[in-house]
Order: sequence, then C-alpha cells, then structure tokens
Amino acid sequence: MQEEVFALLGDKNLSRTPCRVEMLKILLESGSALPETEIRSKLPQHFDRTTVYRTLRSFLEQDVIHSIPLEGGDVRYAVTRNKERKSSQFHAHFYCESCSSVYCLSRARFEPPEMPEGFVAAGYDVLVNGKCRKCN
Ligand SMILES: [Zn+2]
Ligand SMILES: [Zn+2]
Repeated sequence: MQEEVFALLGDKNLSRTPCRVEMLKILLESGSALPETEIRSKLPQHFDRTTVYRTLRSFLEQDVIHSIPLEGGDVRYAVTRNKERKSSQFHAHFYCESCSSVYCLSRARFEPPEMPEGFVAAGYDVLVNGKCRKCN
C-alpha cells in the first residue's frame, strides 16, 4: 500500500506530505469511490478542512484522483490507476442502488458515442446502475 502511494505521488513529482499519503491510503484501501466527508472522517483529526480540500483539488488537477458526480450533487473520488490514464482515459462507473457505493469499471469496454455533424465531444460519462457484488 505504502509503495503504491509513493509511486502515485512520484509519478506526478508530488512530495510525500502526510495529508497526501494518508488520503491516498484511504482511497486505495476503500476499493470504492468515496465522498469528501468520508475521506475526512477517516483521516487523523489534525488535518483541517482546508488542507483536505486543497489536497483533493491538487490531486484532481494532477489526475492522481478523479471525481464521479452523482445525482443530487453528491461527488465521489477515486484513485486514477495508471492503466486508466493510458488507455484512452475513459472508464465507466458503477453505482450500487442498494448500498450507494460507486466503483470504477476499469475493464468494461464502451464505444465513444457517435456525434451529429458539427458537434465536438470533449468527453463523456457512463454511470451504470445496479447491484454490486456485495449486495447481489
Ligand atoms: Zn452494494
Ligand atoms: Zn473511476
């Protein structure tokens, strides 16, 4: 876990500040995407809100993590794995309707949507609903 965290930070030339290291550990250990409140509740108490918020922002800017917006303004965060970064940068997400967990579907394949003439797509999101392995 520690090595994976250091590799993620090293890839982006980010220094190993305690908040960065702890936050990535939490996200990697979780296995599913987490809301900011849950990340904060798992962090040691001494990291204040601003530090956590800034760390999240810088991780997003550097593509160390990515955000998954859900209905109703809920946002989840997940580590961007190296393979996801390289392979066309697109992967879908899964939303479990019974436990509300969100997972990255790194291996599912999707074709980019066909655009009508004159439209240029900059990106697209796919959110699959259903029941996760634990709930099914
Ligand atoms: Zn579930
Ligand atoms: Zn993802």
